[in-house]
Amino acid sequence: MKRIFSIVFFLVSIFAQAQLIVKDADSLSLHYATKMKTLIDRNQSLNNQYSIDLYGVSIYASAADKKLAKPEYKITWSELPLFKLVIKNETREEAQRILLEKGAGPFPPEIQKAYILRTPLSSEFVPMDGKPLNGMRIALDPGHFANDSLTSRVEDKYIDFYVKEQGKTDSTHINFFEAQLTYATASSLALFLRGYGAEVMTTIPEQGKTALGKTYWDWKKTDYAHALDSMLRVRPSDANLLKLKNPKFKNDDRLIFRYVFRDVELRKRAALINAFRPDLTVIIHYNVDEKNKDWKVPTKKNYCMAFVGGSFSAGELGDSEKRFDFLRLLLTDELDQSISFSGQVTSHFKKHLNVPLAKKSDAEYLQTSCTKTESEGVYGRNLSLCRLVQGVLIYGETLYQDNEKECIWLNDEKQEGEIKSLKMPRTQLVAEAYLLGILDWAAQQKR
Ligand SMILES: [Zn+2]
Repeated sequence: MKRIFSIVFFLVSIFAQAQLIVKDADSLSLHYATKMKTLIDRNQSLNNQYSIDLYGVSIYASAADKKLAKPEYKITWSELPLFKLVIKNETREEAQRILLEKGAGPFPPEIQKAYILRTPLSSEFVPMDGKPLNGMRIALDPGHFANDSLTSRVEDKYIDFYVKEQGKTDSTHINFFEAQLTYATASSLALFLRGYGAEVMTTIPEQGKTALGKTYWDWKKTDYAHALDSMLRVRPSDANLLKLKNPKFKNDDRLIFRYVFRDVELRKRAALINAFRPDLTVIIHYNVDEKNKDWKVPTKKNYCMAFVGGSFSAGELGDSEKRFDFLRLLLTDELDQSISFSGQVTSHFKKHLNVPLAKKSDAEYLQTSCTKTESEGVYGRNLSLCRLVQGVLIYGETLYQDNEKECIWLNDEKQEGEIKSLKMPRTQLVAEAYLLGILDWAAQQKR
């Protein structure tokens, strides 16, 4: 009897699985296995947390779960279209909740039903004569926030040194903060984009404020204690967080920034961007020569580059949210499109700014933390925003602020600590380079 039961069980399970094999299962599994190897699993070290086969993709919380064949998330090839619709239509949090609840089983009937009737969200982008970006929703995220020396020290994003300029007897004091450059760039770019018909949102409401709508100092006064406590509830034994509970570190702003504020604020940036449901997201940063740390003198080096998501390594799949994004980036075309969009922008970085694009050998982090993509100067890197922001994005890192020529050019834009609009400030040229890439991308979308 037992034997008959197990034969029946075996036949039923074969039948159930056979039903799941779709016509193009071979090409689908090959396609996603290749994408996983080249763009997602950077060092081929995550093999015990996923499987890709003729039935679909499974993600496991641990190696032990994989041995037990207990996936946390599972998408069969026949479920792939519905998975993509859920990701496109639901918020990131809701999509994750639905998929966690689904687990290895099918999508619940109410989800299947809801999506038969639902018209999927679509872009309002309809180019018109003279308005090539008409209706395109574009989110701009100017990196960092400091607009004064003290705050720039807290987030450690400033240039402060003297250079000897040709033909001048005295040395010039070079002093600016990365947030001033990114804010000026985003402001110029927003104007350009609106002129071409785009709908634009910016994560930083005004210069000097953070994405939380207040200064770092106001946040510390009103929200810090609560933020630290809620982080401790999730990670009660985190040594860095526990250290901040010690009164000795009550006013250690660099630690508070590093272990609490940064994460809170980056999450807020991502939430603002995702709520806007952009067609494109432009994350704006300026780079420095890593080998020139602590940036006391200028460097001769100068490169541009851009990051997109992917490039996970061991230790970066520690919770179900991260594993959700791992699955999302694998199975949607968000990453593929970001690579192609970013490549269009970086080609304008090179031409318009006359700065070369970085090769992998040009910076150590490109070799240790990044994957090469098919677009020149575009690298996969598992940065928080590259992972948390949904849709097509570029995380641009234009030119080295500490470069001997760039630093003078950038410094000339300032007047009494503020970035003023000169005839052709460097940040405006950078904004134009982004604009040219966006226009190329838009033209291609409707071809
Ligand atoms: Zn930056």
